Amino acid sequence: MQKLIELQKDENILVSSKIEQYLKPDFLYLPVKENVLNVHKNEEVLIGSNVLPQSISPISGYVRKLVKMDSLVNSEYYLEIENDFKEKRKKETFSRAKLKKEDILKKLNLENKKNLVLNALDNELYVLTENFYLFLYYEELLELLDEISQLFDITIYICLKASSSENINKLMSALGMYPTIILKVLPDYYLLAKNKFLLSYLELKEEETQVVSASLFYGIYNELKKNKPTTTKLITISGNAIKPRMIVEVKIGTRLKEVIDEYFEVNENAVFIANGLMSGKEIKLDNFIVTEELNSLLVMNSVEAKPEGKCINCGLCSDICPVKIKPVFLHDPKYLNHVKDKCINCGLCSYICPVYIKFNRYLKGEHHE
Ligand code: SF4
Ligand code: SF4
Repeated sequence: MQKLIELQKDENILVSSKIEQYLKPDFLYLPVKENVLNVHKNEEVLIGSNVLPQSISPISGYVRKLVKMDSLVNSEYYLEIENDFKEKRKKETFSRAKLKKEDILKKLNLENKKNLVLNALDNELYVLTENFYLFLYYEELLELLDEISQLFDITIYICLKASSSENINKLMSALGMYPTIILKVLPDYYLLAKNKFLLSYLELKEEETQVVSASLFYGIYNELKKNKPTTTKLITISGNAIKPRMIVEVKIGTRLKEVIDEYFEVNENAVFIANGLMSGKEIKLDNFIVTEELNSLLVMNSVEAKPEGKCINCGLCSDICPVKIKPVFLHDPKYLNHVKDKCINCGLCSYICPVYIKFNRYLKGEHHE
C-alpha cells in the first residue's frame, strides 16, 4: 500500500468539545440546481416539503424569492424561505416500527457486500466533523449497525482515529452489547479517511465492502428509523484567526455569516477556507450558504504568500504523490491532460515543495508555462 504520512498540526487551534446549535435562522437559502421549482412565491412550506426536485425545506415558513448566493454547490440562484418558527412538519406517510431488509439494501447498496465500514475519520487538518457525528450519535449508529448485522451476513467495522480518546472510551464500553461490531482504531494519517486508502489499509476488497461516513449513516438512521429528513449539519469551525473553536449544528441553508456573528470573534483580514486547508477552497463569507457538502470552515490569519522559487529537482513532490503523478510535469498541458483525472486534489505536492510551487493552479488549467 502507498505510504501515508501524518501532517504536522498546531495543537493550539484544535476544536474544543463544546458544541453550539444555530437552528432558528430568519431565512434559509436552498440552491436551485436544475432551474425547476416545485413551489411558487409566498406559498407556505413545511419541514420536509419538496420545494426543489432534490431538496426538502429544513424549516416551515413561506417561499419568498430567488436570490444570488454562494456555496460549495455549483448554483447561481437560491430559493429564499422565510422562517415562521412554527417547526411544522410534513405529515408522516408511514410509521417505521420495524426496518425492512429491502429498504436497507437499497439505501446502503449492500447487495453482494461482505463488509460494511462506518468511517468516522476526518481527512483534513483541524476538522473533526465525522468524529463528532460518532461522538454525539453513537447510540443511534450502533443501534442501526446492530440491526444490519442481524439482517445480513456481513462484517461491520467502525473506524476512528487513535487520537479520538473520548470516542474510543465511549465505544469500548458500549460495544460489549454489540459483539458483532469490530472497532478499528487507526493512526492519524492524512488521506486515510478516503475510501480507497482506508480499504487498502484495512486489507478489505473494494468490491466486497461498502464504506459509509458517520454523517451519512446518521442521516440514513433518521430516514429509516425515525422517518425524518436530514435538515441540519454539524460543521467544524476552527483556525488561528477565530475564537472559540468548536463544532456547530446548523440548519442546512443558513447563511454562514449569521453563525459566525452569533458565536465567534474573528481577527481582521482573516481568510475563510471551506472544507480544509489541504484540499478546500477559499470563500467569501458574506453570502456563503451551508449545504450538505460543507463540513468545515477554517478561519486563518492571512499570511503573505511565499514567492515561488525555481524547481531544484529534489523529487519530493513525486515521492509524496499518493497516485504516482509527477507534479513537476503538470505545467505541460499534454501531461496534465493525461493525469488530471487521476489526481485526487490532496495538496501534498504543494505542501512538501521547498520552493513553494503551487501546483493547484496547473491542475485548474491556469498558468501554463
Ligand atoms: S494534488 Fe494531485 S498531483 Fe499533487 S500530490 Fe495530490 S494527487 Fe498528486
Ligand atoms: S518538490 Fe518542488 S522543488 Fe522539489 S522537485 Fe517538486 S517542484 Fe521541484
